[in-house]
Amino acid sequence: MSDVIQLLPDAVANQIAAGEVVQRPASAVKELIENAIDAGADKIRLIVRDGGKSLIQVIDNGCGMSVTDARRCFERHATSKIRKAEDLFAIRSMGFRGEALASIAAIAHVELKTRRVEDELGTLIEIEGSNVVRQEPEALPAGTSIAVKNLFYNIPARRNFLKSNPVEMRHIVDEFQRLALAHPRIFFTFHSDDNELFHLPGESLKQRIVHIFGNSYNQRLVPVEEETTIINLRGFIGKPEYAKKTRGEQFFFVNNRFVKDPYLNHAVVKAYEDILPPESYPLYVLFIEIDPAKIDINVHPTKTEIKYADERAIYAIIQSAVKRSLGRYNITPTLDFNQETGFSQMIRPKPLEEITPPSITFNPDFNPFENGKSGGGRQSSPIPQNWDTLYQISQKEAPTQLGLHRDEEELSAEQPQPGKKQPFQLHNRYIVSQIHSGFILIDQQAAHERILFEQFCQQLENRKGASQQSLFPQTVTLNAADFQLISDLLPDIQALGFQIREFGKHTFVVEGIPADLTSGMSERQVLEQLLEDYKNNQAALKLPKREKLARSLARHAAIKSGTPLSTDDMAELIDRLFACEMPNVSLSGKPVILTFTLQELSERFER
Ligand code: ADP
Ligand code: MG
Repeated sequence: MSDVIQLLPDAVANQIAAGEVVQRPASAVKELIENAIDAGADKIRLIVRDGGKSLIQVIDNGCGMSVTDARRCFERHATSKIRKAEDLFAIRSMGFRGEALASIAAIAHVELKTRRVEDELGTLIEIEGSNVVRQEPEALPAGTSIAVKNLFYNIPARRNFLKSNPVEMRHIVDEFQRLALAHPRIFFTFHSDDNELFHLPGESLKQRIVHIFGNSYNQRLVPVEEETTIINLRGFIGKPEYAKKTRGEQFFFVNNRFVKDPYLNHAVVKAYEDILPPESYPLYVLFIEIDPAKIDINVHPTKTEIKYADERAIYAIIQSAVKRSLGRYNITPTLDFNQETGFSQMIRPKPLEEITPPSITFNPDFNPFENGKSGGGRQSSPIPQNWDTLYQISQKEAPTQLGLHRDEEELSAEQPQPGKKQPFQLHNRYIVSQIHSGFILIDQQAAHERILFEQFCQQLENRKGASQQSLFPQTVTLNAADFQLISDLLPDIQALGFQIREFGKHTFVVEGIPADLTSGMSERQVLEQLLEDYKNNQAALKLPKREKLARSLARHAAIKSGTPLSTDDMAELIDRLFACEMPNVSLSGKPVILTFTLQELSERFER
């Protein structure tokens, strides 16, 4: 039998390797910017189109390349950064594998323009699927520009695998932010489809953080500084009260390289123990300096993981340094986390007279209780069809609208009901209300969420949420990514009752907020919370955008479990609940109401 093993042609080998290095546009962005940083640039421009799918371009004012290097940089394992195996243990540069450009050139159309300061002419090279299609000397500014066009043009499977432009953009912004944070002295700009998303002049780390995340971060940061024989640690951590519900603002850099490390993260979070609201994530931007010989960055080709020789010591140092900073800035004693800071406090249930009859269509055959199960495994009975006689549904028109039982409805609307019992509250959590055939138990928070959700959906449909004018319109400046998100959602956010419009770079002016969210928080906080929550359940659920927005707002705005309610509040809540299209289904699909019949009770008492 003849020999069967053959060496793969370079182009094929590069394509295979490319899969590891370049997973999506954001990975190419990372590699190109890292190369610019390694080239000593202090000015780096990033330009992308269509979420990086049609263009990623990085322009730097770094050292540039000679003609020969310009040609060679696209070959595999071509690198100027290490020469021998021992160099691997002293890596200070971002790149070292000499794989990135070869990989990118294998799966895209690449145009390289580069000139060293000392050369009179620069070099232009065009390369497609690893083949050089053009090479010319050209008059160019000193530095390097690499444009990567049509990523994965020759691997349709990979190209189809890419997500929507906004999703790919999100990844690029993440990658960009990491690099910009790690190198605050470098001037960065970032354009996407002709919009300038970031414009970051060289500055201090603190200024960079504020520049990226927004001016309000100025008061949120606490410095951390610790020098030991094992590591040096420096950076900033966020005050606990500003902790977010997502991990988006947590950054560790080891020798200026972003790493994702659950172990180090744990050390920080541990230091915050007992002073963080539950399920919230503090901001941190921390830099660890360590002797490169003590770490192995070679673990993963995308290099966000690192192995350390002194893991435990590093953990202890980080934890105590963060603790000390929190203590030094006297953060711990001033906070009271029993205080709920959510939207719940802003809600003042409206007095009964103010209720506008819900203008919804009601399906009289709809019986939400068909599948309802009570907590104890017992089958809960269907609500009697005449439940409405037991509540004076907020006002006269309501029953007509609901279109139920003409005769009874007239009775209940016209006659006072001497026998009617007031609802009452159990453990500030459940509302008990007597009905004809027994009683019902309502989960107040789930009920209010349902009510608000339907109300907000309705408003989004009609595009006219009731809005409450702010006395003092506020401007809110956001980071580029959040600004983009709000811009995309703007029409819907306005429909919910936010009076908000764009007002300069990354800034909105908020002139009114939904009437349901009165008092308590500032416009900025309202908006930030909405964004946070929106991002949160974006990850968890796949719902149409609009419904998701209504859900976020409803979740925030609803009265929480544990809130005492007056009898009027409860009566109103019950009325509004039964005016809902799906009163018995919570936003997460669980029952809102349990029914207990007299018959069931007497059976339980074994009468
Ligand atoms: P690595 O960064 O691991 O060395 P790359 O494939 O990313 O591998 O780059 C190969 C080589 O091309 C680098 O070692 C460097 O010499 C050169 N190079 C790449 N980008 C630039 C740039 N923007 N400016 C100057 N030289 C560059
Ligand atoms: Mg590189």
